Amino acid sequence: MIVEFSDVGIAIGGSGIVHGATFRVEPGQVAGLIGPNGSGKSTLLRSLYRVARPHTGTVRVGGEDVWRLPPRTVARRIAVMTQETTADFDLGVLDVVLLGRLPHQRGFGGDSPHDLALAERALARVGATALAERPFAALSGGEKQRVLLARALVQESQVLVLDEPTNHLDIAFQLELMRIVGDLGLTTLAALHDLNLAAAHCDIVAVLRAGRVVAHGPPARVLTPALIREVFGVRAHRLTHPGTGRPLIAFSSPPPPEPSGTPGPPHDRTTKEHAP
Ligand code: ADP
Ligand code: MG
Repeated sequence: MIVEFSDVGIAIGGSGIVHGATFRVEPGQVAGLIGPNGSGKSTLLRSLYRVARPHTGTVRVGGEDVWRLPPRTVARRIAVMTQETTADFDLGVLDVVLLGRLPHQRGFGGDSPHDLALAERALARVGATALAERPFAALSGGEKQRVLLARALVQESQVLVLDEPTNHLDIAFQLELMRIVGDLGLTTLAALHDLNLAAAHCDIVAVLRAGRVVAHGPPARVLTPALIREVFGVRAHRLTHPGTGRPLIAFSSPPPPEPSGTPGPPHDRTTKEHAP
C-alpha cells in the first residue's frame, strides 16, 4: 500500500515543527527516516498514524487521506511500534500482543482462537514465546521491544510504522528485527538513528533537518559524505560493505574550528611551523 506525504506542514502550539514534507514510499518498500534529534521524524510519523494533524498538505495511504478515513480503517491499515507505547501496561505479554487484534474485533467478542493463534505465531516469530506468561511491565527494554513488534505483527496491517525500533536491542536482535521487517513485505516507515542500519536495510531513506526533508531516495544515492556532514555535523567516509555491497559509513568528528588570531593547538605541527 503506497504512502504519500505531500507538502505536509505540522505545527505544535503555534510553532512549526515540519515544513513542506514531500516524499512517497512505494508498496512494499522499507523507508528509513533519518535526521538529528528533534528534526521532526517522530512528528512526521505521527501525522501518518493520526496523532499529529497537519495544517498543510496531505498524508495518503493507499491513495486516501488518512485524516479523512475513519480511525478504525486507519488502525487496520497501519501498525505502529513506538517508544511511547512502552507505557507499562498492567497486562501479561500475551494480552499485550492481543491488543494488536483490537482493530479487527467487534464489540466485546473477545479474542477468538484465530486471534490467539496469530498472537502465538507472532511471539514465536520474534523469539519471545518463552515470555508469553510474564507480566509485560517486568520485562527488559529489549524484551518489551520484541513483544511490541509481535503486537504490530498480529495487526495484519499493510503499513508498518517503527519509531526507533532498535533502541534497547542488542546487535543480534537489531539485525534480526530488520530482517523480520524486510521479510514482511509491508510498506514500512522506520525512524532510525543508525545510518548503517538504514543503509543496509532500507530501500529508500528520507533525511530530515529542522523539520524539512532535505533529501530522499536510495541510500547509495542519498547518504553521501557531504550530506552527512551537512545534516549531522560529522565527517563521514563512504566504504562498501564487503558482504552486501551496500554503503558502509565510517564517522569521525570534524576538526574543531580554529579560533581566529590565536595559534593552533600544540599537536598541530603545520600551524606551529608556520607561526611567526
Ligand atoms: P525527532 O523524532 O526527529 O527527534 P520530534 O518529531 O520528536 O523529532 O520533534 C521535533 C521538534 O518538535 C522538536 O524540537 C521537539 O521539541 C518538538 N516537539 C515534538 N513534540 C512536541 C510537543 N508535543 N510539544 C512541543 N514541541 C514538540
Ligand atoms: Mg523521535
